[in-house]
Amino acid sequence: MPLLDKKPLIRGGGGGSRHLEASMSDPGAPLVGILGTGDFSRSLARRLVASGYQLVVGSRNPKRSVALFPEEAEVTTQMEAASQARLVFVALFPEHYSTLAGLKEPLAGKVLVDVSNSVRLNLAGPSNAELLADMFPESSVVKAFNTVSAWTLQMGAMDGSRQVLLCGDSRQSKEAVAQVCRSAGFLPVDAGLLSVSLEVENQPLHLFPSWRVPVLATLALFAFFYLYNFAHGVLHPFVTKGERHFHKMPIDTVNVTLPSVALVLLALVYLPGLLAAGLQLRRGTKYSRFPAWLDRWLLRRKQLGLCSFACAVLHAVYSLAIPMTRSHRYGLLNDAYKQVKAGPAVSWDEEQVWRMEMYVSVGIMALGVLSLLAVSSLPTVSNSLNWREFSFIQSSLGYVALVLGTLHTLLFGWDRAFDGAHYHFYLPPTFMLVLALPCAVLLGRGALALPCAAPRLARIRRGWEEKCGRHIRFTMPGGGGGGGSCNGQSLEDMTDV
Ligand code: NAP
Repeated sequence: MPLLDKKPLIRGGGGGSRHLEASMSDPGAPLVGILGTGDFSRSLARRLVASGYQLVVGSRNPKRSVALFPEEAEVTTQMEAASQARLVFVALFPEHYSTLAGLKEPLAGKVLVDVSNSVRLNLAGPSNAELLADMFPESSVVKAFNTVSAWTLQMGAMDGSRQVLLCGDSRQSKEAVAQVCRSAGFLPVDAGLLSVSLEVENQPLHLFPSWRVPVLATLALFAFFYLYNFAHGVLHPFVTKGERHFHKMPIDTVNVTLPSVALVLLALVYLPGLLAAGLQLRRGTKYSRFPAWLDRWLLRRKQLGLCSFACAVLHAVYSLAIPMTRSHRYGLLNDAYKQVKAGPAVSWDEEQVWRMEMYVSVGIMALGVLSLLAVSSLPTVSNSLNWREFSFIQSSLGYVALVLGTLHTLLFGWDRAFDGAHYHFYLPPTFMLVLALPCAVLLGRGALALPCAAPRLARIRRGWEEKCGRHIRFTMPGGGGGGGSCNGQSLEDMTDV
């Protein structure tokens, strides 16, 4: 659906200048051309006029389109526009580029800005920009603005992404386009030569590529633990005693599933760092590549951590909501009624009270530390931290969160692991299953801190190598001589964050 639906961009008919945020274009201002009068062209026109540019728009049918543009813009034929402007935006779909063949001569020696996107991921190439460059060999093609939507162009610097990726083979042409970006309130980012344009074109078509695996892992873990908890808490009492606890499915079962997923995901954040450290210790070097799957896993730790945080937050919200449910209130009334009948003596179980108080307190602390980790992963926050601070938060505090989460689960389980009544269908209680991975990660982290491993790992991460029992390289920054390649990073290096 066209974004602007053929309505004038500037309300109040042709006299749109009243609504522009910046000064009007003056006769001495640079002249920019746009070919095409669609959504993108109209949004761009509005922004350029507001930024003080003189504008000439080329259309196949200028009379029809003139009312849709600010009155400061000249709407004329494509030939006129191409002849007048030195920098021309091509705001057409690539399948219509061939209709511009007659403009080769007027566009020779000029900068052509290709703003087009592909309809679907184009991995084979050539890119639209390269096709345009082939069509106009005497023009200088720059790929830019395709990552910015017509809506963002209208909002300008006020909302939406401000980054404009641009690429092209001529430094001068790129600078000319970058200048237009800056004047329009955007941040030009030079992505390289025109050969990168395929990547730049595909960029808006990606759907959270770095989140796919973490989200799938979260959903898979959720499905697994939900079914496991369902079997334990709903199916087992139904099958063995005929008790109907199906009302637990929307809240109770979800609420015991979420912390399980959160803790396992948090363990999955720290496991690849341990595996990487183990590999480095085994190989005696940090200069051989990790397997591709481990590399990818290491790169997804932030997303896994944020998924873990989301599950922990939902667990907290569900836990707070449980007292509001009708089933809970009925449960309380029934317990009170039973107690009245049994007499007042059986009301206080000291051990269970302590267990619950500690369980809740440690859970809150775990959520607090996880929140810190999540906040520090925001680019605006992480950009303000130096490497040591970032590593301290993500690695040291991360392990604190893992310890607290594990403790929270242990307190939940208490002594139930030793009570046969909790082994439904011969399956251990969920918390035992959940604890396996975090405990393994914590033990692994402890093992890396042992004197037999820690100094060796530290040396390896500073460039020391061992081959065939001989130390073939040893470079210590500063006093150790040589630079090493860890750039002064902490011992944790990249792999343990
Ligand atoms: P649009 O609204 O459909 O406009 C395309 C323009 O191309 C039309 O207004 C028309 O202008 C011209 N045109 C249409 N059919 C033609 C044909 N058969 N032959 C020659 N010219 C024809 O599309 P748009 O949304 O503005 O997108 C234009 C380009 O910008 C596309 O390459 C798109 O990928 C890119 N882009 C769009 C956005 C966005 O948010 N819309 C964002 C980034 C990039 P005349 O009738 O005046 O000639």
